[in-house]
Amino acid sequence: MQQATDLNLATSDQLFTRAKDLIPGGVNSPVRAFRAVGGHPVFMKSAQGAWLTDVDGNRYLDFINSWGPMILGHAPQIVLEAVQRALPDSLSFGAPTRREVEMAELICDMVPSVEKVRLVNSGTEATMSAIRVARGYTGRDKILKFEGCYHGHGDSFLISAGSGALTLGTPDSPGVTESVAKDTLTVPYNDLGAVEQAITANPNQIAAIILEPVVGNIGLVPPADGYLQGLRELCTKHGIVFIFDEVMTGFRLARGGAQELFGIQPDMTTLGKIIGGGMPVGAYGGRAEIMDQVAPAGKVYQAGTLSGNPIATAAGMAQLRYLNEHPEVYEQLERTSARLAEGTYEIAAELGLNYTVNRVGSMWSVFFTQQPVTDLASAKTSDLEAFGRYFRAMLNRGVYLAPSQFEALFVSTAVTDDLVDFYLSACRESMREAHGL
Ligand SMILES: *Cc1c(COP(=O)(O)O)cnc(C)c1O
Repeated sequence: MQQATDLNLATSDQLFTRAKDLIPGGVNSPVRAFRAVGGHPVFMKSAQGAWLTDVDGNRYLDFINSWGPMILGHAPQIVLEAVQRALPDSLSFGAPTRREVEMAELICDMVPSVEKVRLVNSGTEATMSAIRVARGYTGRDKILKFEGCYHGHGDSFLISAGSGALTLGTPDSPGVTESVAKDTLTVPYNDLGAVEQAITANPNQIAAIILEPVVGNIGLVPPADGYLQGLRELCTKHGIVFIFDEVMTGFRLARGGAQELFGIQPDMTTLGKIIGGGMPVGAYGGRAEIMDQVAPAGKVYQAGTLSGNPIATAAGMAQLRYLNEHPEVYEQLERTSARLAEGTYEIAAELGLNYTVNRVGSMWSVFFTQQPVTDLASAKTSDLEAFGRYFRAMLNRGVYLAPSQFEALFVSTAVTDDLVDFYLSACRESMREAHGL
């Protein structure tokens, strides 16, 4: 009993000390560690609406929202109720269920280019599966991705951001083999000419071009005018499968994601994060002709014991249905996010810092640099030391930002005007503190 009581009362620091002995780096996903900003991660206990509560009883206004999924804030009643209704019917069958059909109907209805869809358990699974299907469909081996775009931790995607388009890729992580890496080409984001060159240098060899239509994984970087359309045309011309990785942007930038916002039809789409309402769900889908390559309809194998899990689909569908039926959510998110981003820009400008703020809908970043940020190289001009000091100053004032300059912030509908004011006053003080002003 004594033991149990102690366990319940453990502080963040105590838990992290224990975790480091048992879990690599003390965390189950590297972005949760505070290595880029200094200090120890905060262990969470509960969350409600816009607020997180840690095991030490501190509260934080949350701008990570589980890295995107919690677009309605934490513990929304409609999602909790859907899970509670589903629970008594058992947790998994490994057999088809009605909810999977309804979820597929909902996804195909909401995401403009998706005609058929397969549910998986994470964004990583979705992107890994999508490129396998694209390779099976085209009979080609290579894929092209963009420097700084993150598509989960599949081997093919962990390729050095520095390698040029015309050279063979080199692995970013030990454990990714050279032979896998050589089939991944990388070029800078927002540079159509580099893509054309890569296609010319690899004729009839590229199966797919995959990208984040709005990049969230080097901080927030929007596509330049005409860039997505240009890529669409190149893919059509060269018989390349055009894949939008909308794991972050799907159901967030609009009901139908970035493809609805920018009016571009990709051939395939990968989804995750919001689609599960906080539960582990991913999906990949696209044109029926391509998706019919997937087993058992076709020969490209992809499977999952827990795919389409009844509890996960209950949570995901409750959140998606809400978004589908409440278009005003996106107007609210736009207004709130504009106030946050513009307010941050003005605070930095008043202090003579003139930092770059990028925003699309409810995803945004303040880069600690005065240069426009349009790709990985320009994002890297940021002052990471100053960002780290700012992050810690905000955390001390009860604002939970992403613990890295190279991550976007996510806004939920739980952020009210009063909370924007709370954020802005913390931001003003923290910007001063971080720069000794
Ligand atoms: C988060 C993310 C992934 C990976 O999803 P997981 O569920 O973490 O495996 C893939 N692509 C993008 C764009 C993401 O933001």
